Amino acid sequence: MKEFEIIERYFAVDSGKRKDVIKGVGDDCALLKVPRGQRLAVSMDTLIAGVHFLPETNAADIAHKAVAVNLSDLAAAGAEPAWLTLSMSIPEVDRDWLESFHLGLKRIVEFFGVQVIGGDTCKGPLSITIQAHGFVPEAVFHTRNGAQAGELVCVTGSVGDAALGLKVAQNELQVPPNIASQFLKKYFTPYPKIAAGIALRGRATSVIDISDGLLADVNHISQQSGVGALLRWEKVPLSDAAKSIKDEALLKSAALSGGDDYELCFTVKEDDLVSTRLALETVGTDCIPIGRLTGKPGVRLLDNKNEVELDELGYRHF
Ligand code: ADP
Ligand code: MG
Repeated sequence: MKEFEIIERYFAVDSGKRKDVIKGVGDDCALLKVPRGQRLAVSMDTLIAGVHFLPETNAADIAHKAVAVNLSDLAAAGAEPAWLTLSMSIPEVDRDWLESFHLGLKRIVEFFGVQVIGGDTCKGPLSITIQAHGFVPEAVFHTRNGAQAGELVCVTGSVGDAALGLKVAQNELQVPPNIASQFLKKYFTPYPKIAAGIALRGRATSVIDISDGLLADVNHISQQSGVGALLRWEKVPLSDAAKSIKDEALLKSAALSGGDDYELCFTVKEDDLVSTRLALETVGTDCIPIGRLTGKPGVRLLDNKNEVELDELGYRHF
């Protein structure tokens, strides 16, 4: 297959809904229209085989996750996703692999109504880089540095399942099949909280997506906002599947430091909690307070009133 045939057939996927793409895949540049009154929010993430995903992961799931992690950053910014650019490094032209990748890519692109508008393709170790572009109204943009002491720290859903899914995938955790499949689903095919991010516009004082692990991501907010955080383990939401895990240390480490959940963590003024909860309810998302911001720097955790020693905040590449 020629390079452009591969691009056309497997990578140039289009939800068919976008009127803001004047020129997509096929030319030297894409040409795009940002709606009046909106700003462009841009984010990029790379997924490398053996670093960000197990090399034997099926290609549809790799495509899903590559898009999901990027859209999750847009969700945190409160942006509405529009376009993707896709840089592929592939070791060979394996049609079955490419077809599976294509199907995974198409499914998530259609689900979120976005379009692949360009990219690059080269031969090399398997690696996928996506840049996601979305729109935010001029007046609102969530950052990690708007939080203030006294505000509540909340999450949009349960944490830990994805990290437990990774353990299951690596044969390091044995659980009944129905529980395993819930964990694996959350690990391999997370759905970024786009609607929740939009619902938080003008309500949350800071937002981050939980990719590195709850504590690490709360730490990002607290450092960039110059505040501290006091979290309560009893309040941290766990799925019923996660609650079935008897190994308390494993469960805590998955929920607090595991990462890959792609829920949103945000801060909100106490007075805005009720309206925020209602706004999130309308998009089918929970609003769960897990602690409070304080004037004392650092992230601290209480487990039934006892302060827990935190050594491991989350995943670090270096
Ligand atoms: P150039 O040599 O001008 O950089 P390329 O041959 O790299 O052009 O790409 C040709 C067209 O295909 C461009 O429009 C580019 O954006 C698009 N493209 C290349 N690789 C991908 C990919 N993996 N996914 C989507 N579009 C791609
Ligand atoms: Mg190129």
